Amino acid sequence: MTRNRLNVRTGDTVRVIAGNYSGATGQVLRTIPAKGQVVVADVNMRKHHRRPTQRDPEGGIMTFEAPIRASNVMLVCPHCDEPTRVSRRHDEDGTIERICKRCDNPIPTAG
Ligand SMILES: [Zn+2]
Repeated sequence: MTRNRLNVRTGDTVRVIAGNYSGATGQVLRTIPAKGQVVVADVNMRKHHRRPTQRDPEGGIMTFEAPIRASNVMLVCPHCDEPTRVSRRHDEDGTIERICKRCDNPIPTAG
């Protein structure tokens, strides 16, 4: 099985570049590498109708973000504020930095 390394990480700001939410920008809430999917805040919202239960006597409609394909999003560089591809570079202290292909600045990893 091939390794699934996603192009984005939790906490990244991404632009959706394909699909129903094309053009939307949001923060990555969760990544699902095994499925090649990501969950992006306010993107691909789904409604879930819940009937009242004892724990949740109100029931009603809950909205939540459904996962989308990681290939449909691009990382937004905080320096040039554009969707970009990244390269990886090993830092002097051994950590891996992600480098914006547009402006050559390292992209910080949130969290
Ligand atoms: Zn940049």
